[in-house]
Amino acid sequence: MNLLANYCIVLHYSEIGVKGGNRKFFENQLAKNIRAALGDLFPARVQRVYGRFVIPLGGDFDWPAISARLQKVVGLANFALAEMAAQDAERILETACRQMQGQKFSTFRVTTRRIQKSFPLSSDALSAKVGEAIRRQSGAKVDLDHPEAVCYIEIVDNFALVYREKIPGLRGLPVGGSGKAVSLLSAGIDSPVASYKIITRGVKLIFVHFHSIPYTSPASVANAKRLVERLAEYQLSAKLYCVPFLEIQQAILLSAPAEYRVVLYRRAMLRIAEKIAKKEKAQALVTGESIGQVASQTLANLRVIDEAAALPVLRPLSGSSKEEIIALAQQIGTFEISTEPYEDCCSLFVPAHPATAALPGMVVEAERKLDWKPLIAKALMGAEVGWFGVVE
Ligand code: ATP
Ligand code: MG
Repeated sequence: MNLLANYCIVLHYSEIGVKGGNRKFFENQLAKNIRAALGDLFPARVQRVYGRFVIPLGGDFDWPAISARLQKVVGLANFALAEMAAQDAERILETACRQMQGQKFSTFRVTTRRIQKSFPLSSDALSAKVGEAIRRQSGAKVDLDHPEAVCYIEIVDNFALVYREKIPGLRGLPVGGSGKAVSLLSAGIDSPVASYKIITRGVKLIFVHFHSIPYTSPASVANAKRLVERLAEYQLSAKLYCVPFLEIQQAILLSAPAEYRVVLYRRAMLRIAEKIAKKEKAQALVTGESIGQVASQTLANLRVIDEAAALPVLRPLSGSSKEEIIALAQQIGTFEISTEPYEDCCSLFVPAHPATAALPGMVVEAERKLDWKPLIAKALMGAEVGWFGVVE
């Protein structure tokens, strides 16, 4: 560790801690993701120090930009801009007083964690010593329970870290550590949120959007691209397949009773998504359905839709209310894009009263009249593939 470079970032991670034998694998994935997230700002040297990461910073760095990037890295519990001090009580005290100097507060506490047990003072003794110096310097009172300001000290390895602001991370598991899945992304509110939830479990998503151009305007594709761009901030890079769906819709229109159309559209979408999953070596599909939200999302219909795919269909929003979904959409920055006007391919040719309980037999019967293979092959041939986010 280079003590001349005085500032560093200290990063604590969340659930990795409980991963037992896989811990190393998840740590490596997280370190790789952090390097990629900071890549165009500076080449980050991510060092593992007693169950946390430390990234030394050179003399010149843009903390707001670094912080904004790190706030989107999945798997971090929190992070801070820290000053490194030699492992000596006087040096630590000086550093802590300097850190607290520029701040206004009337109550504070010092929180010490001593991972390097050979340090001569106990955590409490060091906190008390440093606390007394800060009290004299600032005139503020110590309040252990509800302090306005905190001075954090971590005694690690052969140095100490001193910082005062812990910035919360997104938590979850590092993206790429839990395999890949294909997400069916409309330009609506739900599927971007469903995608985000699965991304935070460490799954890297490949996105598929179906459109009915030229019957609908290109707005849904443009919105889907903007959504993928936003979601790529959380998974660093993302691939999007835009698949022409109009011919399949027309074929369904001719062969199936009106009330079954939506279920048949969904089954066709899953079949195509599954082909893409195979090509991409992905293990599951993801949709934004929520039980009972609309007629096509009853349990009976979801069951019939599911039967079109052999891969598991993950529906992370199945138990969420619309209010919860909207709140999360706002938090992750997809709501404003999702609420821009667009014509969804599925609003085309949809009857006023879709079936709420599609019968498997009726659906299979309707599909028998369709020649799936060439229709699906043609849709896949017409797919346009785009990349978003950083190049890996
Ligand atoms: P969303 O808000 O995600 O559009 P929704 O509540 O409007 O969902 P539906 O329109 O019934 O519900 O769609 C259910 C799911 O099917 C979507 O969440 C999405 O995963 C998938 N889906 C629907 N339309 C498309 C599309 N045009 N392209 C890709 N996936 C789609
Ligand atoms: Mg929709």
